[in-house]
Amino acid sequence: MSPIHRVNSWLILKKMAYLLEPDANCSICPRLFGFRSENKRAYPDFFNAPVPAFGSIDAKLLVVGLAPGLKGANRTGRPFTGDGAGDLLYPTLIKTGLAKGNYQASPDDGLELVNARITNAVRCVPPQNKVTANETAACGDFLTSEIKAMKNLKVIIALGLVAHGAVLMAMGHKKSAFKFAHGATFKIGGSESEIMLADSYHCSRYNTNTGRLTAEMFDDVFLSAVKLIKGRN
Ligand code: SF4
Repeated sequence: MSPIHRVNSWLILKKMAYLLEPDANCSICPRLFGFRSENKRAYPDFFNAPVPAFGSIDAKLLVVGLAPGLKGANRTGRPFTGDGAGDLLYPTLIKTGLAKGNYQASPDDGLELVNARITNAVRCVPPQNKVTANETAACGDFLTSEIKAMKNLKVIIALGLVAHGAVLMAMGHKKSAFKFAHGATFKIGGSESEIMLADSYHCSRYNTNTGRLTAEMFDDVFLSAVKLIKGRN
């Protein structure tokens, strides 16, 4: 191996091992930076920054949502904490053995994730809960880094179509490589570190109010993920 190749290989390995986190004032997405700045003025007590993942980097399960909610994670600083989506997600995690404690919609409620980690495809709150393809792609570098840093990762649950596409891109696939379907699972990892993707409708209040997603349907996705993790030990 030539010296140049050795240096390049080392740089690639170093990059893969390094967990890339956005700066608290990340301005890669101008629209989201602007919205965050507006929210800092309107809600100075809110977190108002890219919301970091919650849970151990050594976990076997990664749950990927869309983006922080304005008065949920953007307020509290913990994914899915303080909004309607968290009211379904966290009790489901507790019920399926992936969390312990009492969820009280606050980052200091002492809730602990068990072998699970939660993040979002886009780390900053978007206006009207809608992100653009450019924003998903831009924040995808952080998701890619996170997935690479999770050395024990076996299963990723994508909550909704945007998260599904973001995970596929983070794993080096085209967004269209696998069609999103609630309850579907796909092998998406390389041959040596096979990772499964499990799809679910997003646990938003809208989806539960309209009956698109029921608590039973959501339970089934997480119970299947737990079985997949056990089967992949
Ligand atoms: S969404 Fe991600 S890439 Fe865009 S500004 Fe926020 S942290 Fe930066």
